Amino acid sequence: MIRFEHVTKRYKGTAKPALSDIDFEVQRGEFVFLVGASGSGKSSCLRLILREDLPSSGRVVALGRDTTSLTTRRTPYFRRQIGAVFQDFRLLQSKTVAQNVAFTLQVIGRSRAFIKQAVPEALDRVGLADMGRRMPHELSGGEQQRVAIARALVNRPQILLADEPTGNLDPGTSVDIMRILAQVNATGTTVVMATHEATFVDQMQRRVIELSEGELVRDERQGGYGDTSVIRTLQPEAERGAAAIAALTAVLEVQREVSGEPQAEAAVQKAVDAVEDVVDAVAAPAATEPPAAEQPAAAPSAAADRPAVRPSEPVDAAIPPVDVDALGMADRLGLRSADDDEEVGPTS
Ligand code: ADP
Ligand code: MG
Repeated sequence: MIRFEHVTKRYKGTAKPALSDIDFEVQRGEFVFLVGASGSGKSSCLRLILREDLPSSGRVVALGRDTTSLTTRRTPYFRRQIGAVFQDFRLLQSKTVAQNVAFTLQVIGRSRAFIKQAVPEALDRVGLADMGRRMPHELSGGEQQRVAIARALVNRPQILLADEPTGNLDPGTSVDIMRILAQVNATGTTVVMATHEATFVDQMQRRVIELSEGELVRDERQGGYGDTSVIRTLQPEAERGAAAIAALTAVLEVQREVSGEPQAEAAVQKAVDAVEDVVDAVAAPAATEPPAAEQPAAAPSAAADRPAVRPSEPVDAAIPPVDVDALGMADRLGLRSADDDEEVGPTS
């Protein structure tokens, strides 16, 4: 599904390569954490998979395509099979939630009938079924990230790449996001998540690929974060942290049960209960919430500041024809149609 063969990546004007002779292979359906300190090369790896950049030497093969031999013209089609979410959400601020999710489909020319079905479905998957008419600034950070995940999933990609998706979120909200990513993976999507936050990695017991200064230093099937002494960890207040861990653990049980064990129902109920506890813990004392580290300019607003939920209206009514001015965003998302695509190199 994804294969790095002796991949080295050098950026212009830098002495040391960002990635040195990296080799790994990710199978269909895997959930892989890409971990390492800031600057270790995680985002570079994800950009190579998305063909936003090409290796200086070696090969990156994704979805059966060698990204170096993939033409610039074919790249948008290739990228449509890969969803991506980022630390800073990257929503279109002038569009509603439903419009943000519909936008990618409109740009790639999906039928109105498909969009009408796929957008509510995607919002439902991330638990935002009733929020289609909200504007991004009316949502919390966690909700904005869920919209970004819905957008990434709406075209049913085979691979979901997540670059520090919880980096701007508080611990309780981060658990929500992890739960959604775990569910996405449980339905068959390959997930690669870059993070330098130890908590989830330790808890989830999934494959861990660790980078250090551009070198692959560990590839473990059921890893934890390893030596966490030098890594920034999430420090939730005690009660919420405990609830969050309980939720995550329960959800992970669900995932194991998905493969056909008979205790699925009990595990699901446990997960629901635990997650509800977390939701309660997070929702109640919004004012006392600790600030998330590295808060972005568009800070999530406290629950109390948010406008009341609007009565739900048909999502379809909220989706106007595609706005050409917003195509700059389509570009960044790799969604520009091949016809407009100039033959230029991907490195900027
Ligand atoms: P991480 O995501 O793990 O923080 P990155 O992949 O962003 O790491 O960066 C790896 C290294 O490559 C860092 O030293 C960074 O400064 C360098 N780097 C990343 N992108 C560029 C670029 N476009 N030009 C030059 N150097 C870059
Ligand atoms: Mg990064």
